[in-house]
Amino acid sequence: MSKKLLSLQLALAIAISACGYNGDTGAIEENELYNTLGLDNASLFDEEGLAPQAFAPFSFRRAGVMWDADEGCVLEARVMDSDGAWSNWAPLAANWSEGIAHNGYVDLGERGVAFQLRHVSGPRPAYLFAEAIAEVGEASADGEDEGQYGTLQQALAPSSLVHPRSDWGARAPACNSGSTTPAKITVHHTATPLPDSISPQARLRQIQNYHINTQGWCDIGYHFLVDWNGELWQGRNETTLGAHVANNNSNNVGISFMGTYNSRSPTSSQLTHTANLMAWLHTRYGIPMNRTYVKGHRQYRGNNAGDCPGDKVYAKLGDLCTMAAGGGGGDSGGGGGGGNGTLQGVVFEDQGSGTDDMSHRLPGATVRLNTGASKTAAAGDAYWSFSVPAGSYTVTASLSGYQTSSRSCSVTSGGSVWCSIGLVKAVSTAKGTIQGVIFEDIGVGTNDMSHRLPGATVRFSTGGSMTARADDAFWSKEVPAGSVTVTASLSGYQSRSRTCTVTQNGSTWCSVGLVRVTSGGGSGGGDTGGDTGGDTGGDTGGDTG
Ligand SMILES: [Zn+2]
Repeated sequence: MSKKLLSLQLALAIAISACGYNGDTGAIEENELYNTLGLDNASLFDEEGLAPQAFAPFSFRRAGVMWDADEGCVLEARVMDSDGAWSNWAPLAANWSEGIAHNGYVDLGERGVAFQLRHVSGPRPAYLFAEAIAEVGEASADGEDEGQYGTLQQALAPSSLVHPRSDWGARAPACNSGSTTPAKITVHHTATPLPDSISPQARLRQIQNYHINTQGWCDIGYHFLVDWNGELWQGRNETTLGAHVANNNSNNVGISFMGTYNSRSPTSSQLTHTANLMAWLHTRYGIPMNRTYVKGHRQYRGNNAGDCPGDKVYAKLGDLCTMAAGGGGGDSGGGGGGGNGTLQGVVFEDQGSGTDDMSHRLPGATVRLNTGASKTAAAGDAYWSFSVPAGSYTVTASLSGYQTSSRSCSVTSGGSVWCSIGLVKAVSTAKGTIQGVIFEDIGVGTNDMSHRLPGATVRFSTGGSMTARADDAFWSKEVPAGSVTVTASLSGYQSRSRTCTVTQNGSTWCSVGLVRVTSGGGSGGGDTGGDTGGDTGGDTGGDTG
């Protein structure tokens, strides 16, 4: 870092303290330029509408801004280049707006070192966050083969734990980030208002659009977010490479507390539900629950440490590990309620090693308690859970083609116990799984399966049909071992069949590409460019608040 930059940073500290900044209520994070939440109730803008000059700790290509403001708010921005010259003031245009929430950015012809905003007219922003973006876009990890990508796709966190993306109106990813295997966790906060005046869903949409439109990333950077009510929301699929810790996204699951936690503490509901999620990540991926594998974002920083995930969340990371190691935080929510606990688990195929290998899940299995209550193991990971009064229960799982099995587990009041059940395959049946995705064949067959066709109908020669699921158009079915013909169809595309051989207990990929129906000839070519841009370089990029 140059001497000049160091002196500029000193100027930043003076400018911010002059504006009423108080470190107890909200530190400015490493690449933040402004955050009204850190200004201790003082206005970000002075009587003339000027915000402080903010100097970044590195030169940057773009200044990204999120703000909440009523209609009519007009902001302008200017940028200082590395020679110390300010640009002219220019309007800060929103590239995304929904209600009071807005996103935008200022792009620089060359690299900038400082940034300044002014409020010109209309209502002032109730919340404003600006950060320096060193480089726009997201780099992906090394390529993974399709088979692994597809297998990992099945590992999406169960909807009994987290709200799926469809619950918050997520956009489809703008590009493919590549896949990764979860092996550690980094906890963040979003540096958005707390308490918040808009819904968690609306704030999630703002963050996702900011990450895509302004940061240039493929999708929302985090894998999971926990809102101020303790509800959990799926961001990226946890087996998709994240964008939340610069240069350290590989194998790294990002969990972000929505809000700002420098002075406000997370609630018991937020902590118990986050611990439940961590317990699931531990069970599913074997991530150890200790502070070596569960870090706060600030631990990846150098001396110039940002404070993410806020002092109050950071102080709870050890507690979260302890709660998660005990199987989760329970589901009592702290209401003094009826003393229920959580009985949960997965149903898997026992291939001889019991719970030491639970990787062959059995979604669709029926799970019954001796009380008579029953549930169906969830699609994908075969997860199930019951909220029950403290006591001992017999859990029985059954699935066609498998021997029914029972197990006893005890639940304590406010506790959470795992009671996964393995089923042994019935001797007489030889079955396997056939699975795949339905994609648009743009002329190169399975070499480019990036254009997925959710909603396509998939029919099997062995009987039955299903619909390719939302987002990734994945489908999977257990079928008798042998030759199986899969036929896919979707309005606007030519139906196509493919025959694959399913082995006993095996898992066979049989993805099908459909060619778009063209009215005037001229197909193929030309449609691939947009998907390649974000996938260059190493493991840089992605570094959220
Ligand atoms: Zn962070």
